Amino acid sequence: MGDIPPPSPTSSATHQQHAHLRATLPVPNPTTSHWQTPEHRLARHRTTPNLPTEADIVVIGSGITAAFFALHMLIADPSPAFNNMVVLEARTMCSGATGRNGGHLVVDGSARKERREWEERVWDMVAEIAVRGGSRIECEWREVRNATGWWGWDREGWEGVKRRVKRDREVYGENYRVVEDEDELKGLDLKGSMGAVVSGWGRAATLCPYALMETPVVGIERDEAAGVNVVKTKDRGEIRAKHVVVATNGYVSQLLERFTGLVVPTQGQMTALKPVEEGRLLKHDYGLEGLKGQSGLIEDYAVQRPWDKVGQGAIMHGGARQWVKGGGEGVSDDSYNVDEAVEWLRDLPQRIDVGTHASQLELLKAWTGVMGYSRDGAPWVGAMPGMEGVWVSAGYTGHGMTNAPGCGRHLGILVSAALRGQDWREAERKSIAEGTMLQEFVLSEERIAKAGLL
Ligand SMILES: Cc1cc2nc3c(=O)[nH]c(=O)nc-3n(C[C@H](O)[C@H](O)[C@H](O)COP(=O)(O)OP(=O)(O)OC[C@H]3O[C@@H](n4cnc5c(N)ncnc54)[C@H](O)[C@@H]3O)c2cc1C
Repeated sequence: MGDIPPPSPTSSATHQQHAHLRATLPVPNPTTSHWQTPEHRLARHRTTPNLPTEADIVVIGSGITAAFFALHMLIADPSPAFNNMVVLEARTMCSGATGRNGGHLVVDGSARKERREWEERVWDMVAEIAVRGGSRIECEWREVRNATGWWGWDREGWEGVKRRVKRDREVYGENYRVVEDEDELKGLDLKGSMGAVVSGWGRAATLCPYALMETPVVGIERDEAAGVNVVKTKDRGEIRAKHVVVATNGYVSQLLERFTGLVVPTQGQMTALKPVEEGRLLKHDYGLEGLKGQSGLIEDYAVQRPWDKVGQGAIMHGGARQWVKGGGEGVSDDSYNVDEAVEWLRDLPQRIDVGTHASQLELLKAWTGVMGYSRDGAPWVGAMPGMEGVWVSAGYTGHGMTNAPGCGRHLGILVSAALRGQDWREAERKSIAEGTMLQEFVLSEERIAKAGLL
């Protein structure tokens, strides 16, 4: 499909046009992701036929944010409330972005220093839990270097990247390297790119944190007299809880209307492509930028699953938002694929050497997912202003795997302090001082007002 002219790149005007759109509930009939095929035995697990009427903590959502929140409450800081925690999930376990993403657990090389260092710490925490600690979680972990290629569409962007890498090398030494030499680019398997940035520590991994059950939450109301929040579900009654953790990322504005326009639901397209050569693995974890019609934050990405019965060496290739109307902004529906985007993604052999002369790869599966794009670019984490006992972490802007685990853990620290009758604001300050949270992620009335003006 290389000869079809690209639509105009998504612009800030399109963002404005959709920014007012509020998320809906997750649709009941999502596309099926390759990661979740075959379905996990716990996907439809319900721990109780009826919901309890009360709980200390209700967690809404069962993705990676919820998983790391729960993990903190269970292991790192065993809370007396843990046995009184309920997780509510609208569909099947982990059926949001976490179960349908690109599989990149990679530090954002283009982020500024403080943010990059935070992501490195989160990456290390995940690595410790997944593969380096006492237990080993089967999550197809593979450490590779990240190679991000730049094509000719955005020459100016490429010059900017080179300037930044040069600056950063003073801080990071050889960890990030610009490659422009034709032979070396060939060695990276990048076809026709004008250059690439290769990191010394880029890593790729996947995580499927499974938790609980099909229970959409439709509202949170405060019972001031009783000092609790009332979590209303669509068809399973309500639960009264002191603390409610909203871990619904792209869907956050459906429950918390104030997030409308602050965290914009954004549909992302993924494909699983059939590799040609048995046993061959992609050398790197790839980013592809500056391709036809791409601009700004839009990029394609590719990683490969292992050659085993489940993974089948599938090449997981996503992005193509330049082919999606309005870049997918404002869309919280993951029940359909965008054909033009799928076709573009199948063209991968035209951009990376995947061991074939064919121009397209066979499609094993195509699916979409909903990301949460933050108005000011940073996640929103902490206590919801004006709603006592409601805690939020959302808005990872398509880059949650090296942010959400740290944000979920941080909510665990805050809720744990609140449950123990301690000053959670003090806990928040301590987290920021110790680097387990970043100031720019903190959810506050001031930040909401400021972002509204952007
Ligand atoms: C196509 C795609 C590709 C991506 N690729 C990458 C990548 O390669 N690397 C990377 O770092 N990040 C990537 N991301 C982003 C990353 O997946 C997310 O940032 C991260 O998974 C968010 O995790 P979460 O737990 O906060 O949200 P989610 O995983 O979305 O979980 C939220 C859960 O809440 C549930 N829910 C929502 N509303 C309600 C309600 N009212 N009641 C009950 N339950 C509800 C949903 O069903 C869902 O299961 C990608 C995302 C997508 C969609």
